[in-house]
Amino acid sequence: MTLPAQAQIIVIGGGIIGCSTAYHLARDHKADVILLEQGRLTSGSTWHAAGLVGQLRSSASITRLLKNSVELYKTLAEETGLETGWKMTGCLRLATNEDRWIEYRRLATTARSFGMEMHLISPEEVKAMWPLMDVSDLVGASWLPTDGQASPSDITQSLAKGARMHGARIFEGVRVLGFEMDGNRITAVKTNDGVVRCEKVVNCGGQWARQIGVMAGINVPLQPVKHQYIITERLEGLATDAPTVRDPDRRTYFKEEVGGLVMGGYEPNPQAWTTGDVPDDWEFRLFEDDFDHFEQHTAQAVARIPALETAGIKQMINGPESFTPDGNFILGSAPECANMYVGAGFNAFGIAAGGGAGWALAEWVVGDEAPLDLWAVDIRRFSNLHQDRQWVCERTLEAYGKHYTIGFPHEEYESGRPYIVSPLYERLKAHRAVFGSKLGWERPNWYAPEGMEPRDIYSMGRQNWFGPVGEEHAHVREAVGLFDQSSFAKYEVTGADAAESLDWICANDVVKPVGRLTYTQLLNSRGGIEADLTVARLVEDRFYIVTGTGFRTHDAAWIADHLRGGDVTLTDVTEEFGTLSLMGPKARKVLGSVTGADVSNEEFRFGHVREIAIAGHTVRALRVTYVGELGWELHIPIGATGDVFDALMQAGRPHGLRPVGYRALESLRLEKGYRAWGSDITPNDTPFEAGLGWAVKLRKNAPFMGRAALEAQAGKPLTKRFAGFTVDDPDVVLVGRETILRNGETVGYLTSGGYGYTVGKSIGYGYVRNPEGVGDGFLLSGDYALVVANDVVPAKIGLKAFLDPQNMRVKN
Ligand SMILES: Cc1cc2nc3c(=O)[nH]c(=O)nc-3n(C[C@H](O)[C@H](O)[C@H](O)COP(=O)(O)OP(=O)(O)OC[C@H]3O[C@@H](n4cnc5c(N)ncnc54)[C@H](O)[C@@H]3O)c2cc1C
Repeated sequence: MTLPAQAQIIVIGGGIIGCSTAYHLARDHKADVILLEQGRLTSGSTWHAAGLVGQLRSSASITRLLKNSVELYKTLAEETGLETGWKMTGCLRLATNEDRWIEYRRLATTARSFGMEMHLISPEEVKAMWPLMDVSDLVGASWLPTDGQASPSDITQSLAKGARMHGARIFEGVRVLGFEMDGNRITAVKTNDGVVRCEKVVNCGGQWARQIGVMAGINVPLQPVKHQYIITERLEGLATDAPTVRDPDRRTYFKEEVGGLVMGGYEPNPQAWTTGDVPDDWEFRLFEDDFDHFEQHTAQAVARIPALETAGIKQMINGPESFTPDGNFILGSAPECANMYVGAGFNAFGIAAGGGAGWALAEWVVGDEAPLDLWAVDIRRFSNLHQDRQWVCERTLEAYGKHYTIGFPHEEYESGRPYIVSPLYERLKAHRAVFGSKLGWERPNWYAPEGMEPRDIYSMGRQNWFGPVGEEHAHVREAVGLFDQSSFAKYEVTGADAAESLDWICANDVVKPVGRLTYTQLLNSRGGIEADLTVARLVEDRFYIVTGTGFRTHDAAWIADHLRGGDVTLTDVTEEFGTLSLMGPKARKVLGSVTGADVSNEEFRFGHVREIAIAGHTVRALRVTYVGELGWELHIPIGATGDVFDALMQAGRPHGLRPVGYRALESLRLEKGYRAWGSDITPNDTPFEAGLGWAVKLRKNAPFMGRAALEAQAGKPLTKRFAGFTVDDPDVVLVGRETILRNGETVGYLTSGGYGYTVGKSIGYGYVRNPEGVGDGFLLSGDYALVVANDVVPAKIGLKAFLDPQNMRVKN
């Protein structure tokens, strides 16, 4: 077969991800697609995978993709005639201590929230299912009956055959050497066998995806890491349908294979492979066996399955796999290039993810939009920080090492810190700040009182910061606090056509008179919320946009992708401004005493922006709040941030001003019912469903992105609606993903959970679903409960903010 001169879509890489993507492009979209593989199919990481297929993750969308995989693997052989080795053996996860057990109780709840069955079973039941196991140290286990295992090479060959059957052409022995570009658009792919013109490229290059990306100017932050497992000789008494086993407290996993066991693990001291380029000729290759390094797993595995002591080892597999800094894979449209899509960095669950990820990627490539909320895996969650190879390597190894550690709520990574600090870093440290990190920025989470060590101590219940954060919270409600939010992403949109462009992109009316600021969503073609931010009109042709720290690349790319052309420019000005949010009933008194500007309510109303002078510097003051109190966001030329902080702290002394951290911000916003993008509001949710219809300019006649979808939804009963819940029991800890029960039936799950210190209750938010419609009557008539760590606890629903009216001082 000769390489064509032209193809609509070129998929690079013949591992499971490339083959699955090509299969779905051909099957679902009848696309003109070719797949290029430098060696032979499966010869990268795929052929040596162990083949465990688990489905449950903490993200609903990733879980949905993994469920898609299983659905596909069940039926693929029927379609293609090539077996996949799929066996629905179920999966056991073992718990040997109370914290792990609570983790599983929460996992079982998450599974139920996501529509999956997961049971918690006793050590005796484990023993009955897996007689070779020593269960003497077990507290119990979780049992997910629909998990299983498959043969990685067979699935991939079956997908490749399916792709061909639907018209895709697959070329082995064709290496991509570079790209012909027109600006930031690929026009052709250069190979060792000629040049192919194309419209779109999908980079499924596995551990090579980083270097393939570089050739088109994009960053794919992954790190190859050595991962080992052994295959034993036959074990007497091991059933061929034995469930797969994960034993995280002993950092190991097991899978039956031809009567013997596959056994591997996640060590706390993983070994990175190269931080340079991966060699091109790494085809069906492995590293040398490293029994010294593997010994830590063997010792643990023998303790769990004593029969392993005498079992012969048939083979050791020591192969490279790409891991990422946050343990999630990388999918979607690269922000630096107009037509390269990526599916890579699968963190040793590429076989489990392959079917679903290939489906999602194919939809994304053809539709130019993610088909559902895929923020957790979106390539746009990264930033310039992730071009630092050393940083990526360190953080990735930390994430690998934590693969099987207990997932405590609110846990922070420790490696590669501090990386980016605000100008106030040393000052806040002197105030005993305990920092967290977000997209490389150090941010104060809370402040330790004198006599308390300034560090997080994690636990499954209330953690050590619970009390101090309550004091910070109360201080903002009753007096005034100062948040360092310098890490906010900030952009300017300028030019004669800026207003028209933003009018198209924003769901709310942001084209207001100069000096006004507007809270708005940006919507996709389904009316789903792609971003949630504020837009301030500084002058006629200049707008200032502020959004969350983590959304910097994503939101900028979304805006840039959808600007309508003409005289309009988007500039990222994040590092040009420090941001201090002065919030609380006494905020006006403090601000009034450091500026000559009139900050009275008459002269400086809510939703306005003004330039005011503080400590001799010109500061952009935005009257806005995320905590439900009177307040201003002060955007300060970055070099002057320290001066302004000092001036505010000094002037604020008589009013009790104190620095406050992000954990208090979270509890304050939960009480006030402000939605958080990425959890409460996502590309899956429309503003109507989210209760944000008031921020949509449907009544204005102007067209805007997502309008058609919203018009189709307007006036019809909504099938899901965002609602709040409170729990009175002070011992209940909400962390998100708890199941919502209405009259005993599952109707949804929490997208956010935490504690409201002013109301003195745990608070959660989530969508209540009902195919027949969710009106106020339906919502308010039910009896509600939440499933929290597998326990049913009574809850009350609320459709308005949970604060008492006297606390609602925002507009005064
Ligand atoms: C020891 C081990 C055990 C594992 N166990 C499991 C498990 O139990 N369950 C699970 O789900 N996952 C497991 N995995 C992970 C799984 O193997 C991977 O996530 C998956 O194979 C990744 O598939 P891929 O298609 O992204 O990459 P690959 O299979 O590496 O495919 C990428 C392909 O791109 C090709 N390519 C690269 N550069 C070019 C170029 N310039 N031109 C043309 N082609 C190019 C390569 O030759 C390669 O074939 C394991 C991994 C290891 C190492």
